[in-house]
Amino acid sequence: LYTQQGFDRNNSMGANLADDQELQALAARLNEHAGPWRAGPLVPGAVATGELLAVRNPADRRQVVGHWQPADAAAVDRALGNAVAAQPAWDRTPAASRAAILEHAATLLEQRMPEFMALCVREAGKTLPDSVAEVREAVDFLRYYAAQARRQFGAPEQLPGPTGESNALQLHGRGVFVCISPWNFPLAIFLGQVSAALAAGNSVVAKPAEQTSLIGHAAVKLLHEAGVPAEVLQFVPGDGATVGAALTRDARVAGVAFTGSTETARAINRALAAREDAAIAVLIAETGGQNALIADSSALPEQLVKDAIASAFTSAGQRCSAARVLFVQEDIADKVTTMLAGAMAELKVGDPGALATDVGPVIDADALELLKAHAQRMDREATHIATVPTGEATAHGSFFAPRAYALASLSQLQREVFGPVLHLIRWKADQLDAVIEQVNATGYGLTLGIHSRIDETVERIASRIKVGNVYVNRNQIGAVVGVQPFGGQGLSGTGPKAGGPHYLPRFATEKTVTVNT
Ligand code: GLU
Repeated sequence: LYTQQGFDRNNSMGANLADDQELQALAARLNEHAGPWRAGPLVPGAVATGELLAVRNPADRRQVVGHWQPADAAAVDRALGNAVAAQPAWDRTPAASRAAILEHAATLLEQRMPEFMALCVREAGKTLPDSVAEVREAVDFLRYYAAQARRQFGAPEQLPGPTGESNALQLHGRGVFVCISPWNFPLAIFLGQVSAALAAGNSVVAKPAEQTSLIGHAAVKLLHEAGVPAEVLQFVPGDGATVGAALTRDARVAGVAFTGSTETARAINRALAAREDAAIAVLIAETGGQNALIADSSALPEQLVKDAIASAFTSAGQRCSAARVLFVQEDIADKVTTMLAGAMAELKVGDPGALATDVGPVIDADALELLKAHAQRMDREATHIATVPTGEATAHGSFFAPRAYALASLSQLQREVFGPVLHLIRWKADQLDAVIEQVNATGYGLTLGIHSRIDETVERIASRIKVGNVYVNRNQIGAVVGVQPFGGQGLSGTGPKAGGPHYLPRFATEKTVTVNT
């Protein structure tokens, strides 16, 4: 598959998590990278003026792990000016040279895995396995888009024409791309967006989620070191309301790659559309989900519970792919509920840097408040199944105990709950189509899990459900670059899929050259 797509290496091995010794060695090396880190705008010619803000460890709010400085209005303006000036030369740089730079960045990132893992643990509260996966996915994105750029942006495609005429089709960068990335994949999605935009020949102004500016800053420095010119990739940390808004209302922007909430994607779309006299910009948005897992009575309860737990609680449920609702057929529902509660009791919530931890903190106090409010409503309106106990170690962090509730209907969940809460809904044998309809009616369409050993049932659900990624008899998170291209439809995003063969062309414009020979 990789060879077919020009992805001539296997996905990054990262570290072997099945090997306890390897993970322990890696964990020990993390302590060599304890910060304090520092981040600020990377904009040639701009003088940094903003105040320094403290970055606190989500697992222990008393601990300051670094400081970051938001970009001011002048830096944002300067960044866009630099990006416009630098883009044509970058676009004329052969795709193979751009690809080689990204591949060099991938190698550097692999070499610096412990430092980037340490940042993921301390700034984003990621567990060790999640931090390994994060670095690994970032490496994969760099190599995958490099390979796609060689294939799709290399020599022009020669097209048939009458005698005496040659026709060639070439992909080019669109211009200045703004990349606005989320805190839940602060390295992988950040570098995925940025490397795709760069591979396609765009200059990039990158704004990370304000919660994870340190990681974004380190990633941009790494790309500069690998050979991306400073004006071609600039970094403007800041919040959405100021820096994000200043970027998306600017007529110099040709496209925006965004991952985050559906509401923010709408706001960006409106801002881009409102620009007088500007070319119509492209928006590539990957947004939320209301992801279901549908299990019928033929499902294996042990496997179902294991996969439901992984899908709902890995990364403290802070993945847009995470399972939020388990539709379980009545015949096995009691058994599954009991087993789920039992398996949840085994989960360890705590220090994300500790090897035994399954679930770390949520990103910040605001996220925690939203989850607490949801739990309070569920305590009133739903039937409580289980809450994982959190220990003493969590007293100073933004920890939220994973929970499960039984609901009567999906309409009890109005919006995406971005955290470790799983909701169970029972269905009867004759209600399968109604379940599919309910899931489609949410308007979201990101991931769907199916647990069934009946081929017709799997086929019936998979063919009728409107989602981007269907996973059968396994968990529904952790899409692998080049293997499970990832992204949704409807309220979940515009496509194209990250880590898939159609992603780069969306960052490009096409030019046909016809020569009378
Ligand atoms: N690609 C990730 C996964 O498959 C989810 C990305 C996200 O949460 O934005 O789990």
